[in-house]
Amino acid sequence: MVEEVEVDGTVVVGLGGIGAAAALALADRGETVVGLDPRPAGHAEGSSHGHTRLVRLAYFEDPAYVPMTVRAWRLWQELERRSGEHLLTACGVLALAPTGDPARLVPATIEAAHRYGLQVDRLGAAAIRERYPAVTVPNDWEGALEREAGFVDPEATVRTLHRLAREAGADLRAETALAIEYGERPVVVTGGTRYHPRRVVITAGPWAPELLGERLPLTVTRKVVAHFSPLDPDGLGPDRLPGFVAGAGGALHYGFPLLPGDGVKIARHDGGAPTTPASVDRTVHPEEVDALRAALARLIPSAAGDLLTAYTCLYTMSPDGDFLLGPLPWAPSCIVATGCSGHAFKFVPLLGEVLADLALGTRPPVDIDFLSPARFA
Ligand SMILES: Cc1cc2nc3c(=O)[nH]c(=O)nc-3n(C[C@H](O)[C@H](O)[C@H](O)COP(=O)(O)OP(=O)(O)OC[C@H]3O[C@@H](n4cnc5c(N)ncnc54)[C@H](O)[C@@H]3O)c2cc1C
Repeated sequence: MVEEVEVDGTVVVGLGGIGAAAALALADRGETVVGLDPRPAGHAEGSSHGHTRLVRLAYFEDPAYVPMTVRAWRLWQELERRSGEHLLTACGVLALAPTGDPARLVPATIEAAHRYGLQVDRLGAAAIRERYPAVTVPNDWEGALEREAGFVDPEATVRTLHRLAREAGADLRAETALAIEYGERPVVVTGGTRYHPRRVVITAGPWAPELLGERLPLTVTRKVVAHFSPLDPDGLGPDRLPGFVAGAGGALHYGFPLLPGDGVKIARHDGGAPTTPASVDRTVHPEEVDALRAALARLIPSAAGDLLTAYTCLYTMSPDGDFLLGPLPWAPSCIVATGCSGHAFKFVPLLGEVLADLALGTRPPVDIDFLSPARFA
């Protein structure tokens, strides 16, 4: 017997990083919130697992994101104060690349910083090696160091957001949305219930293509992450080494300082085979580990020791690498955050706030028009 449930508020479909933040932001505003997700907070099947996500402010990808990064940085600190949890490590982030590299990682980082008055140090190869003796970049490389940057712990964040959302009155349920019926009042269908909310927030991560169908151009890609135990730990801790992004020859790797129990993590941002959450190859193959160890050894040889662990994770790619954030073009009462293309976790508390604004019809505090899903309608 299917139960018909009126919800005088919002149903949030998917309670990973972004959905949990939306549930909290909505509940904080007194909205009735029913959150649906069959998986436990911190699970390792989607895009928000592991212990580290880079948080940068001077956005080389597109300076239009900088007002969002700046506000997100403040919201992370507020979330820490409110929750009493240590989520953010402000160890800085170092962008590294050969001088003149066509991808312009370093100059674009510096330009974005200057446009918004952010502090960033431009470093030559010698200065990089002097400041970070473990980093062995060649003489023709350069760097851009953001001190006000670092990384957050995604699993701890998702658990914290679930706790706070419940404390704020959100009703989080271990259910799967099997379908969404679009209309004046959308209907969210689960195994035993048809929910009739005023609006729906869809934050289903790499499962979004299944739920939204072909109407939005999304591709899920398989990503591999590896953690290595250092040959020599000296100078590799967050007090001596920042997070890093390194671009050369079209490849873009990123990594983190040495963390207790986690070793040194590295992964590649570009590339990745198209897949789905149901069919993804979860096995990490030796050649994939070797490629990541080699990339780490080129940058920080003392970090590139034995493999500690390796696992897969999923990106949900949009054609232009920018988020899809806003009302669905065919259903204005359904708000989506998808197509996060491997770079949304740093924005999680802000995306929660923005989704609440969009759902409740208030203007978000930052310009997000450039992320409208309508650009692909
Ligand atoms: C390896 C890797 C490294 C990354 N590094 C960075 C970084 O350094 N900095 C950064 O800013 N970003 C980074 N990102 C990107 C960032 O982690 C993601 O953009 C972010 O986690 C996306 O969160 P999400 O809430 O959309 O997805 P998820 O956390 O995957 O949440 C989606 C949730 O929806 C639920 N769900 C799915 N279908 C349904 C359904 N039908 N009904 C109910 N619930 C459903 C799932 O169970 C899941 O919990 C990285 C991503 C990966 C994979």
